[in-house]
Amino acid sequence: MEPFKMFKASDAVTAITSVLPAQSKFIAGGTNLIDLMKLNIEAPARLVDINRLSLNKIEELAGGVVRIGALVSNTDLAFHPLIQKKYSVLSEALLSGASAQLRNMATVGGNVMQRTRCPYFYNTEFACNKRVPGSGCSALNGYNRNNAVIGTSEFCIATHPSDMCVAMTALDAVINVQGPKGNRKILFADFHLLPGKTPHIEHALKRDELITSIDLPPISTSSKSHYLKVRDRASYEFALTSAAVVMDIKNGRVVKSYIAFGGIGTKPWRSTIAEKVLNGALANEQTYRTAAEAALSQAKGYKFNGFKIALAKHTLVKALLTVGGMS
Ligand code: SF4
Repeated sequence: MEPFKMFKASDAVTAITSVLPAQSKFIAGGTNLIDLMKLNIEAPARLVDINRLSLNKIEELAGGVVRIGALVSNTDLAFHPLIQKKYSVLSEALLSGASAQLRNMATVGGNVMQRTRCPYFYNTEFACNKRVPGSGCSALNGYNRNNAVIGTSEFCIATHPSDMCVAMTALDAVINVQGPKGNRKILFADFHLLPGKTPHIEHALKRDELITSIDLPPISTSSKSHYLKVRDRASYEFALTSAAVVMDIKNGRVVKSYIAFGGIGTKPWRSTIAEKVLNGALANEQTYRTAAEAALSQAKGYKFNGFKIALAKHTLVKALLTVGGMS
């Protein structure tokens, strides 16, 4: 690890001003950044510690929006009564990720900002366009079992690792950020970027902008939801595939659905294609299978990960059956 300086900010404006010099980065829980620094994949000259900022509340705003402070821990968010009652898909997603110890340390803002776990990204002996732009992608013809099958490019096929972000994407969350020019909102689905030719540019946040909170819009009280994660072992493991499903069914028909996948996409993958099939259709297994086929119709497998396409379809159908019943 390279030597670095540490500055403890006491408010958002100071934090944003302090991160302006090149080679400075925000740190909160540090559950991903410290690993990256130990491996010299990231080497900031200065860390701006934001843990003292007042960004650790979960509150219901007028109009039913639930605002989650960026410094709320993954554990506190998962077990908060409002989240468990209204957004259980988010609670389930959080509790399926990492370990209890990591969830205690990891913050909501940090979860959004975490980087891929592609093994070639973490091993500096291999070419990686995300780590060193223009150097090549070792995963394309390497052992790519855990890599993405949707949203990929010839420059990068890395998956986004978060479970929380998959549920947030399905819930139409909005990210609130503060920068030197004021505040702005970014739709969760627009925050993470496709790799294209520039896989090292991963999100829409500017270097001197700080995530302050995330808003969850109100959800129909008759909606039901589920997060289903498929992985190689039962805990402390990233998804091979996962599906976040929120669905409102009335008189045997799907009134409204929200679908997102994890483990298969280069970003948390909202499937509006599946939603179009589901919305207005009979809520039965045939509809769910048609939606799953449509959702994966543009997926492309590589040498070792083609199995994810069929697995993702099964994952979605099972999650839909759990939410909608077995009819
Ligand atoms: Fe790097 Fe992306 Fe290729 Fe992995 S998939 S080696 S992160 S460029």
